[in-house]
Amino acid sequence: MRAISILLGLGSLAFAAEPIRVQLTTGGHAHDISFYGVLEGQRDFRINVNPHPSAFRRDLRKDVDVLVVYDMVDVNDEAQRTRLRDFLESGKGLVVLHHALCGNWQWKWWYEEVVGGRYLMKDEGALPKSKFKHDEDMNVTPAAKHPVLAGIGPFRVHDETYKDMWISPKSTVLLKSDNPTGDPQVAWIGPYRASRVVAIQLGHGPEAHRLPEYRALVANAIRWAAGRGSD
Ligand SMILES: [Zn+2]
Repeated sequence: MRAISILLGLGSLAFAAEPIRVQLTTGGHAHDISFYGVLEGQRDFRINVNPHPSAFRRDLRKDVDVLVVYDMVDVNDEAQRTRLRDFLESGKGLVVLHHALCGNWQWKWWYEEVVGGRYLMKDEGALPKSKFKHDEDMNVTPAAKHPVLAGIGPFRVHDETYKDMWISPKSTVLLKSDNPTGDPQVAWIGPYRASRVVAIQLGHGPEAHRLPEYRALVANAIRWAAGRGSD
């Protein structure tokens, strides 16, 4: 009923197309309640928060256009992995936020072909374990021209940094940070081609969650992942 009333409320406005149906998945990592303010006020989104363990228990293709993950869980269940594969192979979008980069770090298909980056939870051969550092200030600058960066210029943010992540050379870097405690790449387009995938390392706490640029970045990422707007 809520969806119907929203559509009626928008009445004859031309953009009142079908809302973008978002599944927001959390779980496995505590986070500040300010996170839920990031997507407030986006009238073209219909957001359903579906955390673990129920997140991937059903076929997501039926009622989800974009999956937004802000979880930190290794999906090891084969049926759940198949549902994620089916969802992405069907062309549906994915937005990976902050500590979600630390999940599935041993699921090669996920980090190598889809997300194009991973946070290593321990040393792996020549690759050292990744590190995090809280409460860092950084200057963030666009590194590409892309719809996900629409309206976003250089900005300053107080956030957590990640260092020594593996980032695929096939990822397209969108934003770079100047803080040496972290990797320069703080947002990118994943290498996956069957659907649109955006990864955003930023977003630990209220300082990022309340920043207009961060909110615009996440909203743009969802719209682009849904295939809305221009290429
Ligand atoms: Zn964090």
